[in-house]
Amino acid sequence: MTAKLIDGKAIAAAKRLNMKTRVSQLRSEGLLPGLAVVLVGENPASKSYVKGKIRDCEEVGIHSELIRLPESVSEKELLDKISLLNQRDEIHGILVQLPLPKQISEEKVIQAISPEKDVDGFHPVNLGRMMTNQDCFVPCTPAGIMEMLKAINVSVTGKHAVIVGRSHIVGKPASQLFLNHSATVTICHSKTNPLSNYTKQADILVVAVGHSDLIHAEDIKPGAVVIDVGMNRNSEGKLVGDVAFDEVCQKAGFITPVPGGVGPMTRVMLLENTLKAAEKIVKERACD
Ligand code: NDP
Repeated sequence: MTAKLIDGKAIAAAKRLNMKTRVSQLRSEGLLPGLAVVLVGENPASKSYVKGKIRDCEEVGIHSELIRLPESVSEKELLDKISLLNQRDEIHGILVQLPLPKQISEEKVIQAISPEKDVDGFHPVNLGRMMTNQDCFVPCTPAGIMEMLKAINVSVTGKHAVIVGRSHIVGKPASQLFLNHSATVTICHSKTNPLSNYTKQADILVVAVGHSDLIHAEDIKPGAVVIDVGMNRNSEGKLVGDVAFDEVCQKAGFITPVPGGVGPMTRVMLLENTLKAAEKIVKERACD
């Protein structure tokens, strides 16, 4: 068997196309959606992620503002900046690129963002809303995974979803989303032993660890849907996932490539959350 490739790049491109129409609709109602991206310091990976996010906004017509702060910025200065962005009506989404320098508490920064503008979906209010199945901003990577499954018509209901990784930004919210969609969920982490006992039972396997070659063909069930979130550099400097792609694709039913799988979906869900924030304002206006 050779797995079908889940083309995240193509699914994300189709979503961006549709978003252009939504932006036009918002503009016709007098609202230009706006995203503020805060970048602290000179971390090359962060700079490259931020550049991509700004470019995506330009493509669909979302107004974006890049706020650059020096590595030495104090926590108070950053919190003050966020407070100003919270108050600005033309900014519907605020994203602070992580990681932050060590003098700044990421937790405090995340909590300073208004939950209504928290397009990364990391604020405890949004995480709590997700836990209780209420409308909220869902973190972009898990949201992108669900969107991908929808695009390829894979139903989650009643399936056994095994999530490897329990970070606040990927593994835990992904597990909750699968549960919200009525999957039976198993969460694995670094103390799970042996990991393959669990991964072998997965109808849908999500791997979000950050170790290349963690999952081999013998670790999966034939025909499983394999979602590889990992992003690692191999010895040749090539971007690879957590899954040994060449062998696993011989046994899986569907598989995401790295690059071109989850990454583009994560990016597009940031736009989705920003549009959702702006559309909510228009709806509220209509109700006033
Ligand atoms: P974290 O480092 O925050 O979490 C990694 C998780 O993996 C932890 O829960 C850890 O367990 C678990 N883990 C570590 N080793 C093992 C092991 N041997 N077996 C099972 N579980 C293990 O990473 P993130 O969640 O932030 O990111 C994971 C990967 O996904 C990274 O490669 C990252 O670059 C990538 N990523 C990709 C995105 C995309 O858009 N494609 C977006 C976000 C992340 P424990 O909790 O016990 O320590």
